[in-house]
Amino acid sequence: MKKQSAGSSSKISSTVLPYQTPRLRDHYSVGRKLGQGQFGTTFHCIEKGTGKEYACKSIPKRKLLCKEDYDDVWREIQIMHHLSEHSSVVRIKGTYEDTMFVHLVMELCGGGELFDRIVKKGHYSERKAAQLMKTIVGVVEACHSLGVMHRDLKPENFLFDTPDEDAKLKATDFGLSVFYKPGQYLSDVVGSPYYVAPEVLHKYYGPEADVWSAGVILYILLCGVPPFWAETDNGIFRQILKGKIDFESEPWPHISESAKDLVRKMLTRDPRSRITAHQVLCHPWIVDDTVAPDKPLGSAVLTRLKQFSAMNKLKKMALRVIAERLSEEEIGGLRQLFKMLDTDNSGTITFDELKHGLRRVGSELMESDIKALMEAADIDNNGTIDYGEFLAATLHLNKMEREENLHAAFSFFDKDGSGYITIDELQQACKEFGLGDVQLEEIIREIDTDNDGRIDYGEFAAMMRKGNPGIGSRTMRGNLNFNLADALQGKPKEGE
Ligand code: ADP
Ligand code: MG
Repeated sequence: MKKQSAGSSSKISSTVLPYQTPRLRDHYSVGRKLGQGQFGTTFHCIEKGTGKEYACKSIPKRKLLCKEDYDDVWREIQIMHHLSEHSSVVRIKGTYEDTMFVHLVMELCGGGELFDRIVKKGHYSERKAAQLMKTIVGVVEACHSLGVMHRDLKPENFLFDTPDEDAKLKATDFGLSVFYKPGQYLSDVVGSPYYVAPEVLHKYYGPEADVWSAGVILYILLCGVPPFWAETDNGIFRQILKGKIDFESEPWPHISESAKDLVRKMLTRDPRSRITAHQVLCHPWIVDDTVAPDKPLGSAVLTRLKQFSAMNKLKKMALRVIAERLSEEEIGGLRQLFKMLDTDNSGTITFDELKHGLRRVGSELMESDIKALMEAADIDNNGTIDYGEFLAATLHLNKMEREENLHAAFSFFDKDGSGYITIDELQQACKEFGLGDVQLEEIIREIDTDNDGRIDYGEFAAMMRKGNPGIGSRTMRGNLNFNLADALQGKPKEGE
């Protein structure tokens, strides 16, 4: 098995980031090289202030040949932020840019690439392969549920967090990933030869192509060689389009029927008949027989809207303040989701747009439920959800837990800087947000644990954090089932 590198496709701009950054080396000591990809070289680095270890992928700007290349790096950064709540996605920490490089500082994965472990082992046991597959396809499902296609799934782009045998596997390299809308087809042929799906070669594809690539990884995990193999790229492509999958050679005779069944379903050439990421996770070979698969709870948007609607008005206003502070890269993904729901591009989401958007992803909701969600998100009660309201309602709660954001929100309300939010100050804030008849006394009573009639920072922070799933217990399932693959095909969600 050879390492696979991605292909890519015109004007030059001089910066990737829309803002100036501090210098990387003022904040990090950069050390040994960890890995090399097609665009970036990744180094070990240590944050000077804390002594914590990170990985820094440095992309030389001389390799960015055209405007699209610049846009791609900027999109990669936004997508990493968009997926950052997923525990199996390498977490991005910060971005730096100087005249020569763009640097992405991220969580360190010290266990090396999945690629190298496969090479070392030959292949994995079914049990171990199933565990790894669960993680890989879990990432694919998360991507699709947030409107992202990965487009470059391969063992080189999955890393282990530690050198241990039972290390956690994490997805990295969203350099070829894109935002997509249901029903939209892409035509640029990107990816890596062994892993590319037949419909990508036909230049007409959607998110199903990721499932194919994951199927190729599964085949390799089980037997150590790629299912479609030839000496040349064109030979590989011919195999992908027409070749028969070998289930006869060693070790396939010893591999269970169930594993083969899953491989066949993932490597089905017609993308419309191919299994979806969610269905893979429900396949008996993947499902742990002691644990039933999580039932899809509906879309990520729906889950977050529901959470938002349960919050008191102060918390909702605070989230708006925080949403306005978030950087472009942190909200880029949500902007894409907003555009997807705002079908007439008016800049606001109407009741009908919300209803259709949620139906399209298979959420069975009563008209009255949708109305309630709509009203909850529509902070100023003007009958539509504008972009700011949408961000507040759907930004992931992990963004709001950050201390600096909580401080900023608190000081927004504490206009006179007294260290307390008073009834008067709350009243003023409500006016600014266009909120009428809010029961302010009630809100204060609920939050004001020491009963002094005002809210101090501790009470505020406690209120903001209350009811959020903690970092440790945060799981993807349930949170992110906005399955655009299903939406694309107009199929009802399985398991519902
Ligand atoms: P490219 O877009 O150039 O393919 P990648 O993001 O795949 O760049 O990074 C290149 C290589 O650097 C990876 O294959 C891996 O070996 C290493 N690498 C990337 N991210 C990390 C990380 N977070 N921790 C450790 N090594 C990493
Ligand atoms: Mg890579």
